[in-house]
Amino acid sequence: MPDTSETLQRVMVIAAHPDDPEFGCAGTMVKWAQAGREITYVLLTSGDKGSHDPDLRPGQLAARRESEQRAAAAELGVKEVIFLRHPDGVLENNLEMRRQLAMIIREHRPHIVVTIDPWRHYQLHPDHRAAGQAALDAVWAAREWYIFPEQLVDGIEPWRVKEVYLFWTDNPDYWEDITCCLEARLAALKRHASQVGADTTKLEERIRQRVKEAGQKPGYEAAEEFKRFQF
Ligand SMILES: [Zn+2]
Repeated sequence: MPDTSETLQRVMVIAAHPDDPEFGCAGTMVKWAQAGREITYVLLTSGDKGSHDPDLRPGQLAARRESEQRAAAAELGVKEVIFLRHPDGVLENNLEMRRQLAMIIREHRPHIVVTIDPWRHYQLHPDHRAAGQAALDAVWAAREWYIFPEQLVDGIEPWRVKEVYLFWTDNPDYWEDITCCLEARLAALKRHASQVGADTTKLEERIRQRVKEAGQKPGYEAAEEFKRFQF
């Protein structure tokens, strides 16, 4: 069972789009939530370009994807979902993004941050690279007194994240047994109907196969894999 003592209780998932967590790490999130960890999602965009339907305006799609993400999060027992509403498809890891994320980390004080591995070979989606990089840079900035010092007022202090888990990684060194929680992850994934459609049979097969393969090394029926850093 995961360590749910006070020291590792708060978890923050930082990802580019609604549905990234459900595609990447949601089996682990539901397991951790059931074990008593408090999970917060931070989505940098609302996925407003995630459709090829020319009749759908970005604003309408964003609203739909936010409500799908909230429904998926509720399915998993995620406590809070935060949307930063940066434009989809053109995400940048710039100073403003890092400043914003550092402030969110300093305010919410997560012990664990979960994000996308920005160093995955041939990670073609620029938002996925930018989101992982920005999250890691913000984890580093949040703990330093001299980075974004203007934030350190009204009780806000530097915050030191204890562990980082990267999903969609080429270099896993941590496997979570999600045998208990695969069905919940699939149910949550189905909530993203604008992305996965009504018939998810093939997608589910693919995911069942992937988590089975990931489980081979540690000897679990189903696993999600991560690159883990402990500070
Ligand atoms: Zn994505």
